[in-house]
Amino acid sequence: MATGRSPRTAGLGQERVTVRMDGLGHVLTDTRMMTSNPLTWAAGDVTANPQFTHLAGVHASVAASNAVLGLHARSAAPCPG
Ligand SMILES: Cc1cc2nc3c(=O)[nH]c(=O)nc-3n(C[C@H](O)[C@H](O)[C@H](O)COP(=O)(O)OP(=O)(O)OC[C@H]3O[C@@H](n4cnc5c(N)ncnc54)[C@H](O)[C@@H]3O)c2cc1C
Repeated sequence: MATGRSPRTAGLGQERVTVRMDGLGHVLTDTRMMTSNPLTWAAGDVTANPQFTHLAGVHASVAASNAVLGLHARSAAPCPG
């Protein structure tokens, strides 16, 4: 069993680049997968979304498309933040 998995984000320096996190260390994003810093995007288990491979993949695709191509794609899945 692998229950209670949590992100290991302490010490990555998010504070310096003003990336907001929740109390458990998840990186918070909007539905475009953009963090509170417009130059920083996040997807997968490090976010506060359900921890599934397929969701991480969909969110990574949204994040990469928006970050690299300048699109405005949004994820339909919940993105607490
Ligand atoms: C035992 C187990 C069973 C699971 N079974 C399923 C399942 O059946 N179906 C399902 O959908 N999901 C399942 N999951 C969840 C799924 O594995 C995750 O949701 C998915 O892998 C998340 O992808 P990710 O890219 O966010 O993170 P990861 O796949 O964990 O990738 C993160 C990567 O970042 C690397 N990394 C970490 N820190 C650093 C750093 N500081 N610098 C550089 N690289 C770093 C890691 O080495 C890793 O390669 C399972 C998880 C576990 C633990």
